[in-house]
Amino acid sequence: AEGFNANVAAAKALNAFIVETPDKALDAADAADSARASGDLKPLSGVPIGMKDLFCTEGVQTTAASHILEGFVPTYESTVSGKLWAAGAGMLGKLNLDQFAMGSSNETSYFGNVISPWKRNDGGNAALAPGGSSGGSAAAISARLCPAATGTDTGGSIRQPAAFVGISGIKPTYGRCSRWGVVAFASSLDQAGPMARTVRDNAILLEAMSGFDPKDSTSLDLPVPAWEAGLSSDLKGKRVGIPQEYRVEGMPAEIDALWEKGIAYLKDAGAEIVEVSLPHTQYALPTYYIIAPAEASSNLARYDGVRFGLRDLPDGAGLQDMYAATRAAGFGPEVKRRIMIGTYVLSAGFYDAYYTQAQKVRTLIARDFDRAWESCDLLLTPTAPSAAFALGEKQADPLAMYLNDVFTVPASLAGLPAMSVPGGLDAQGLPLGLQIIGKALDEQGVLNAALAIE
Ligand code: GLN
Repeated sequence: AEGFNANVAAAKALNAFIVETPDKALDAADAADSARASGDLKPLSGVPIGMKDLFCTEGVQTTAASHILEGFVPTYESTVSGKLWAAGAGMLGKLNLDQFAMGSSNETSYFGNVISPWKRNDGGNAALAPGGSSGGSAAAISARLCPAATGTDTGGSIRQPAAFVGISGIKPTYGRCSRWGVVAFASSLDQAGPMARTVRDNAILLEAMSGFDPKDSTSLDLPVPAWEAGLSSDLKGKRVGIPQEYRVEGMPAEIDALWEKGIAYLKDAGAEIVEVSLPHTQYALPTYYIIAPAEASSNLARYDGVRFGLRDLPDGAGLQDMYAATRAAGFGPEVKRRIMIGTYVLSAGFYDAYYTQAQKVRTLIARDFDRAWESCDLLLTPTAPSAAFALGEKQADPLAMYLNDVFTVPASLAGLPAMSVPGGLDAQGLPLGLQIIGKALDEQGVLNAALAIE
């Protein structure tokens, strides 16, 4: 019992969960026992799953890790979580994240940062960031608190945390997973996806999570392929592109070495490697950091103290005062920064110079990929420009934090499927991730290349 209690304390110290719902996981386990007895097991019967606390869950507090939603208990279930329960899974709890999924380190959560279960092997004991925004999902899986979790990815929030803790995660093609019931950050970019230890687990989970939903107007009305059955690490006949613009200045040598290792794995699996060019890559980050805050500033207008969660109504105050007081108290600093950037780039005098321009560049970035697909079927890049950094290291410098997303945002802007898979360890023994980007709807190609690396 002593050992068990110590393990529980160590697990809780990671701060991965905002709310724990063990009874729901136990109910799913019981249901799995009966299903086994009657011979009708479902694909995820009895599997305990952690839900990023951005998915609305009926009767269970959903906060997006923000004070403004504290105490908000949805009366409905998100489509994606509902599909997981229908496939037999049970919810273990709601996982911590960056506030409204804005961040790359989990430090913007109102409920305190998540701590990565990993440590550098140089004896330094610095607590490391689990990545973000799906850092609670990443830490919980990596620490073996749950076998799988949901994530969402707007500009890298599934892929970068997966890379930081040595697990896999896939952001499918935009529109594969319904956004209905997922707290919105930037609607034209937001996609749900699974995170798990293996590529196969990701394929199984993605199959359960995907599918047309009339309640999301951007949902793809297409059948869900049998991704798990289609898994194969034989890449004969596949051409994998290496985008030269991703060789960014100042990239650590070990990231370069990781990339070379990935190339070797794919060659061994039969793929042909080709150099390709994505000429507008350098504009992806500034484009993303205009479009995402613009959409966020609009999406977050609904938190007014009337409909959801927190209400701050000073004595004798009027409606405007309530809005102002609620939003001032309810949103964290990073969320306020994004709202200010977003309203600025959408304002009358600056709309054309920033927002319209960013939309045009977004199209150019998407066309870069279209052109690359003329000479290759998949792309291989590092997931992030570094291994996990220490908590606090980039907190004071938002730009340094945004730079961490340099390799993940282009696929988001183009709506393409992209996956991070562990590629090896750095000199400090920390995991590094490799990213596979595929053509729209080619999750199978992405999963198969990831399998060849795994
Ligand atoms: N780190 C990026 C951001 O802060 C991406 C976040 C995400 O994908 N949700 O916007």
